[in-house]
Amino acid sequence: MSAITDLTAAQLAASIVAGETSAVEATQAYLDAIAARDGEIQAFNETYPDRALDRAKQLDADRAAGKQIGPLGGVPVAVKDNLCTTYGRTTCASKYLADFRAPYTATAVAKLQAAGAVVLGKANMDEFAMGSSTENSGMHATKNPWDTGRVPGGSSGGSAAAVAGRLCAAALGSDTGGSIRQPAAFCGVVGCKPTYGRVSRYGLVAFGSSLDQIGPLTRDVKDAALLTNVIAGHDPADSTSLPNSVPDYLAQLDEPIKNLRIGLPTEFFPDSAEALSPDTRAAIGKAIDAYKAMDADIVEVSLPHSRIDVAADGAISSFAVSAYYIVCTAECSSNLARFDSVHYGHRTKDAVDDIVTMYSRSRAESLGEEVKRRVMLGTYALSSGYYDAYYNKALKVRRLIADDFKSAFRKCDVILCPTTPTPAFRFGEKTANPIEMYMADIYTISLNLAGLPGLSLPVRLSESGLPIGMQLIGPILREEILFRAARMYETTNPANLVPPMVMT
Ligand code: GLN
Repeated sequence: MSAITDLTAAQLAASIVAGETSAVEATQAYLDAIAARDGEIQAFNETYPDRALDRAKQLDADRAAGKQIGPLGGVPVAVKDNLCTTYGRTTCASKYLADFRAPYTATAVAKLQAAGAVVLGKANMDEFAMGSSTENSGMHATKNPWDTGRVPGGSSGGSAAAVAGRLCAAALGSDTGGSIRQPAAFCGVVGCKPTYGRVSRYGLVAFGSSLDQIGPLTRDVKDAALLTNVIAGHDPADSTSLPNSVPDYLAQLDEPIKNLRIGLPTEFFPDSAEALSPDTRAAIGKAIDAYKAMDADIVEVSLPHSRIDVAADGAISSFAVSAYYIVCTAECSSNLARFDSVHYGHRTKDAVDDIVTMYSRSRAESLGEEVKRRVMLGTYALSSGYYDAYYNKALKVRRLIADDFKSAFRKCDVILCPTTPTPAFRFGEKTANPIEMYMADIYTISLNLAGLPGLSLPVRLSESGLPIGMQLIGPILREEILFRAARMYETTNPANLVPPMVMT
């Protein structure tokens, strides 16, 4: 096993700056790891070995010439396949966009590159980011490096599996309802969804525009802070990006927060093994004890409109999940309307007489079931007569959810809860019932509705050896509190999560 692939992004960048490792060596080490193991994990949809090595050579030459190569100088990364790049394809893991070449590069990717990162390739995902297991990918199924019979989570499953499986030093994902945090939890890595608007969405193929946010998946909290430093900030190309200046998330990272007030939402600890598995409950309980040992104050808070309901027959429901599936499907039905098979996208080879048949046949041939389901649900929710009954009602619930968080943050600095109800599930376990799959995000979805930042941190392994994630939630634009609180935990309770297949 190569030592290079064990380093965090920050450690690797430091070793390249110090001249102990070169960018070319680092890139080659990861390309070798991909060649050796990605046949099994299948985290990538496409890799760019020649481009990556050329870029690494340039960085080494710049360093030799005394130039600054940036805080991620020579660090090999993966980016989710819904982030546009002028090189290679941007497919959103959809057969519809299988040959799409973007005319521009997403701001977040451009910023990573400007900071010296070397993009190795595009990571697999659920088609158009719709899903929680990467099983909805139109390309192939990505395996969880901890147990290849299990899903890596989704929709940023390729990014999470690549970071966990030592196939890249760090990765970018996108999170609309949990798609960074849930796969991070399943794969035992750190995942951060910044505040809505903190990172430019320019060049991120839109799914639910009022919910989508780009963020990092990394080996540790320091790397998450480092990558967020690089990608955050206002971008005139995205009118929803926030104008606020970005603090240096690394500046006080290692300073523990004194008397940190941690809120535990009573509604997020339901008495049901389906909604909260016993090993997840136990792991979160131990994490709470660890914070108590660090003199944190634990307070109860209430998030009534995000509450998890368990019916007598065991069925799980949540207002937040219901509201989310109205809002995100409505937005996706509008966003996906641009895929007309004229400007771009798959076009049917059949001879058709009229344009409507051309649209419907092209889409029917190349879009997956889940994408079709969401476009139909969203179109229905927005149609006249149903708009008030569904869409407007969901917006009202969304406001109530956001208000609950505001009240909760009067009593605490961060909120702590599980990231997911259970550790990674098996392939096929939830594909027959979309509602069951939707419930994989009961702990993550309400943050997107409220626009709040959230971070998933691996805390320990379950009895069957699978990673368990803890979610920390912060007030709007207070990512630094999340990073510091997570770092406090990480430095005193290192999880040291290395998936077994890397060791063999
Ligand atoms: N699993 C959720 C969904 O299917 C969230 C996806 C995401 O965050 N992109 O919509």
